[in-house]
Amino acid sequence: MSTKASLAHDHIQKHQSRWEQTSLDIWNYAELALHEERSSLRLQEELQREGFTIETGVGGMPTAFIATWGSGRPIIGFLGEFDALGGLSQKAVPYREPLQEGAPGHGCGHNLLGTAPLAAVIALKAQMEAEGLPGTIQYFGCPAEENLSGKAFMAREGAFTHLDAALTWHPGAITRVQTGSSSANNAANFVFRGRSAHAAGDPQNGRSALDAVQLMNLGVEFLREHIPSTARIHYVISHGGEQPNVVPPYAKVWYLVRGVDRNEVDHVWERVMACARGAAEMTDTAFEVEWLKAIHHVLPNDPLIDLLEDVIFRVGGPSFDEDDHAFARELARSISPQQRKSALQNLQLEGQLSDDTLLLDQPFPRPPLPPQGRGSTDVAEVSWSCPTAQFWATTQIIGTPGHSWQVVAQGGSPIGQKGMITAAHILAEAGYELLRNEEILQKAKEDFLKRTGGKPYKSALPEGLTPPFHQFATS
Ligand SMILES: [Zn+2]
Ligand SMILES: [Zn+2]
Repeated sequence: MSTKASLAHDHIQKHQSRWEQTSLDIWNYAELALHEERSSLRLQEELQREGFTIETGVGGMPTAFIATWGSGRPIIGFLGEFDALGGLSQKAVPYREPLQEGAPGHGCGHNLLGTAPLAAVIALKAQMEAEGLPGTIQYFGCPAEENLSGKAFMAREGAFTHLDAALTWHPGAITRVQTGSSSANNAANFVFRGRSAHAAGDPQNGRSALDAVQLMNLGVEFLREHIPSTARIHYVISHGGEQPNVVPPYAKVWYLVRGVDRNEVDHVWERVMACARGAAEMTDTAFEVEWLKAIHHVLPNDPLIDLLEDVIFRVGGPSFDEDDHAFARELARSISPQQRKSALQNLQLEGQLSDDTLLLDQPFPRPPLPPQGRGSTDVAEVSWSCPTAQFWATTQIIGTPGHSWQVVAQGGSPIGQKGMITAAHILAEAGYELLRNEEILQKAKEDFLKRTGGKPYKSALPEGLTPPFHQFATS
């Protein structure tokens, strides 16, 4: 390892068990979007103890915070997430066994995601202090990445526009810089209201809200053939009535529409709205749209991508031991050959690995083509606010499905923790470079201005939308 931030790396190593425990605590809390009180506090306490100043309630969300240390420029931001996903509770074992049936679980590895930048900023602070290095480091506690895009509410307040650069990572099956973009999206509940009636006694007097939901969905099914192939439309019926012998007066369907950019999303969204209007007309019901979020696609930044790639190779990948490999082999039994094949295709590594390679411990160079991820991330909002870059670190075996119990299992195991510690080293090393290298920051800024055309960040959220705390309210 020919890294430069040696004090920071020593600090991360010395405190490794502290960071493992932090990630395990958050893994155990497994709190849903906008209700991550304990997880947020757990991270804040570590930062407070180190002398960071903490601002909470960012973007109108009690679990969002910014922790700051240092003074003056440059100002480097590190993004941490910590929300879980519903229904994915799972023990840290390589076979399906919920910790608590039906409870949430860290199916996207955000317990690791939030802890790595925590370890990095605290280690960087130690290095800056020892060297008397000027500049400011900030940890952004970003709630509700899943489904509700907390960063969109933070960005709308301008929480990221003052940064010279922002860095983050995501757990994955590879250690590699991210060069691609992501999908922009909109999400909303469509709430239909009709009129109740006895389903057999006087159905002629009923107006079914469920019929409206079904007709809207049917319209959307026909629509699919006539939208760009890059767009995606997903829905779940979150309320379909109470019982079959009552005409449902109330029904709700939750829609998520993705496209390559805001234009594509706006276009498809207008046509989904037409399906809703048509369904209401056909069924003599009324509907309202309860917005949840709207975000952009990720704007890459070439100078920061180059820096991260260089740093990743300086730091190296995680080292897995025989216990990890044994865990990986057993877990791999739950992953189909087709899932592995798709994963290798997405990674652009088809035909390059032996069949028994499950855990990638070496860093990889960027793939020949920037991958166009069809998924979305609210990191996009940061990327339109300031120069931003991301990377993956290996915390899971190849073929692990996204948002799955297998992610939860590995995120609570040494495999996930080793990847997380690697990510902390990469973030600290890259942060140290940025604090000392004005030239990279200048180039990153130029690239950012070129891509945004110098236009200031504009939120995609509908005017006046407040964070949708109700979506995952438990009581
Ligand atoms: Zn996710
Ligand atoms: Zn995620």
